[in-house]
Amino acid sequence: MSIQTTCPYCGVGCGLLADGDGTISGDPLHPANFGRLCSKGAALGDTLALDGRLHEPMIHRQPATWDEALDLIARRFSQAVAEHGPDAVALYVSGQLLSEDYYVANKLMKGFVGSANIDSNSRLCMASSVAGHIRAFGEDVVPGCYEDIDETDLAVLVGSNTAWCHPVLFQRLAAARQTRGTRVVVIDPRRTASCEIADLHLALRPGADAALFAGLLRYLSDHGMCNNDWITGRTTGFDAALSIAPSLAEAAAITDLPADELARFYEWFAGTQRAVTLYSQGVNQSSSGTDKVNAIINCHLATGRLGRPGMGPFSLTGQPNAMGGREVGGLANQLAAHMNFSASADIDRVRRFWGAPHMAARPGLKAVDLFEAVCAGRIKALWILGTNPAASVPRAQQVRAGLARCPFVVVSDCWPTDTTALADVVLPAAGWGEKDGTVTNSERRISRQRAFRLPPGAARPDWWMLTEVARRMGWGDAFSYQRSSDIFREHAALSAFENDGAGRRMFDIGGLAALSDADYDRLEPVQWPVPRTCERRRADSPRLFASDGGRFATEDGRAHFVPTRWLPPVERPDEDWPLLLNTGRLRDQWHTMTRTGEVPRLMRHQDEPVLTLHPVDGRRYGVSDGALVRIESRHGATLIRVMLSAEQRPGEVFAPMHWTDRFSSTGPVDRLVSAATDPISGQPELKATVVRLSAVPVLWWGLLLRRSELAMPADMYWSRVPIEAGHAFTLAGREELPGGSRLDDWVDSLLTRPARSELISYSDAGRGVFRYASLVDGRLDACLFVDAHRTSLPGREGLAGRLGAAVEGAGRIGLLAGAAAGGPSTAAERIVCTCFAVGLDVLQRAIADRGMTSVADIGAALRAGTNCGSCIPELNAILREVQPDESTPA
Ligand code: SF4
Repeated sequence: MSIQTTCPYCGVGCGLLADGDGTISGDPLHPANFGRLCSKGAALGDTLALDGRLHEPMIHRQPATWDEALDLIARRFSQAVAEHGPDAVALYVSGQLLSEDYYVANKLMKGFVGSANIDSNSRLCMASSVAGHIRAFGEDVVPGCYEDIDETDLAVLVGSNTAWCHPVLFQRLAAARQTRGTRVVVIDPRRTASCEIADLHLALRPGADAALFAGLLRYLSDHGMCNNDWITGRTTGFDAALSIAPSLAEAAAITDLPADELARFYEWFAGTQRAVTLYSQGVNQSSSGTDKVNAIINCHLATGRLGRPGMGPFSLTGQPNAMGGREVGGLANQLAAHMNFSASADIDRVRRFWGAPHMAARPGLKAVDLFEAVCAGRIKALWILGTNPAASVPRAQQVRAGLARCPFVVVSDCWPTDTTALADVVLPAAGWGEKDGTVTNSERRISRQRAFRLPPGAARPDWWMLTEVARRMGWGDAFSYQRSSDIFREHAALSAFENDGAGRRMFDIGGLAALSDADYDRLEPVQWPVPRTCERRRADSPRLFASDGGRFATEDGRAHFVPTRWLPPVERPDEDWPLLLNTGRLRDQWHTMTRTGEVPRLMRHQDEPVLTLHPVDGRRYGVSDGALVRIESRHGATLIRVMLSAEQRPGEVFAPMHWTDRFSSTGPVDRLVSAATDPISGQPELKATVVRLSAVPVLWWGLLLRRSELAMPADMYWSRVPIEAGHAFTLAGREELPGGSRLDDWVDSLLTRPARSELISYSDAGRGVFRYASLVDGRLDACLFVDAHRTSLPGREGLAGRLGAAVEGAGRIGLLAGAAAGGPSTAAERIVCTCFAVGLDVLQRAIADRGMTSVADIGAALRAGTNCGSCIPELNAILREVQPDESTPA
């Protein structure tokens, strides 16, 4: 029997069916995806058998019992509070947690420990949207629903590579474009995969979004396109916002866009009732992120375009439960259930509901400040749940140093990470598919995540660990939960507690507070609000603020315009730091790759961290495609390979956010990233750090395949990918290879041959060619190819098929010649369609040879693009490259 659950990756919140044999498919009944999945979701089944999970609690790297670990945590946290006060301890949580985990963590810290020092990695993702919503609507609410994407006539994607970061919503948008002719505008400094369906791409200056939308407000007003009745009847602050809005010419100058292109967008927006603005991290991760959000919302308020089908401002959340975390108050500046520290009545209400002995009365430290407090020694005990700040927080190297110095660090997670390596206590957490609870997606839809397998070893859910620690700290009565449904009912009841009258909170799921355990198990996806008065209804609440009298959650019941003035990023290029570094997601990876990075097929779309650089800058720095460079900021430096692409604006570079020390010597890009934050939301500016770049001469390139992992030497560049039978490493050397016996030692250190192994080799020192293979019982255990020229190395994928296989007779010579399992091997091929492993070379040849002109042609011949559809934007781009005059975009 299939179990209905939800995807653990992005905020789209797709419904899944999990079968007993581990097969994962899209749930055709789930309203977020109606059966669709992206490449990551479609590969979830491959993650179920991943090795390397944390199985048992560890104290100072030694196995311990749960009682030993939980007693120690309770003792050290109590001690830190007694000696230094409640603000000396902190929790750092994650949008990967379920709402039930989040609720217990928040209650423990804010109601019982007595500090609001609990923040979430969601701070890095959408805190600016939260702050913008509260300023405009009085509460953190997303007004619309996914049907607005299906029903819109103009979709504006701002700072959002939706094609890669929210692929199923992108599929819905692409379908709307085909069926109803929806126009698509992409506003992004980079030409991303989302531009494949764009009617207009505005490659604006990084950070200038607020000026672009303030200019739109001015244009709407100047052209008589505002909805004056709506402005008068439902809002305040229009004149103030308009008074500082730039003219079209001024906006064009600030955004570095041609005035006619900007005017075209303004004209389209002004003339299209059904306009939806979808925005994401490019808006939020900015030192002026909150103003950007309000500049967007201002334009929807000015036209009255929200609360009705096909229109509205729409924040796309990054993580599966960033929204649920906001609902339970998982950010340091929030109380539970959308209540606020700014209202003493709210603080008192939550205190009474919880029976809290030590209610926090003021906001705690936001993520960047929290880790600065750790570095400064002000935090004496820290518990990190389900996230990897040693890789993902700005100035990650300094964060690591702070964690290493912190007196007591607890980390609960599913896999070892860069952060668990720095913990005093590591707790094995139950992961996706192993625990029960709820998540809320970007359209306010609460869905169940259901367990369909047992956790490995002694792993337990996070809410259970938190509850056990709370009991040991003396608060057993308030934390008497036996199952996740107990927590959900309490969370739902709090949302409805004293929630009536003029100032009622919009987040109200009181209608779910009396669910029985069986009802909770059966709970179908439902959008909030679900108030008690609608207890029996099954219909959703798809849109808020409908124009027929919907009140906003502000004191005056009106939506608020916010004047927004353009501010450039905190760090700006100059002679010493001439390039601006942007960071972001790739199509097939998730966060710090703990799950996706170990799935071979997901690593074949992009197998190394690369820095994307405009060809003009490539010439300026004397680097070619694939070259190794050193990139340096004021905060750190690393080596990385280069990819030249005209999709990047000159003077700006892009690096993926995913890689860590476990996958590449490049390590986390957040080592380089500035810790500047938005003054209102506290969200860090992850997309605008100044850097400089220099070419790094490489004397040799290498390919190492091994059946087992290896801690790589620190003195060379390396990058690892999982392959079916082991691991493959790309190597690059800046030093001459050692000579004589030292070369043998070096080879042995990479092959780590067991005593009974046999070594076969070939070398031509004159040409810089060295090849070694270690056979154990006649089977290939490891091999190393070194060459002065990268392009002369054999293909990884072909050789990977020989790992673990018998090597006999002439096969030995073939192996050292780099022959693949089935014949000659070519250079490693980039995979475009992950579902059917269709590579770039195959696609290019097939399109050219068979005269293909559409994605449908490709699908019919090669199946590429016919399953999850995540590769369709790239298929269109390849068609355009190969058949520039023939292709028809899908
Ligand atoms: Fe998961 Fe992909 Fe759906 Fe996001 S779009 S929830 S990653 S299947």
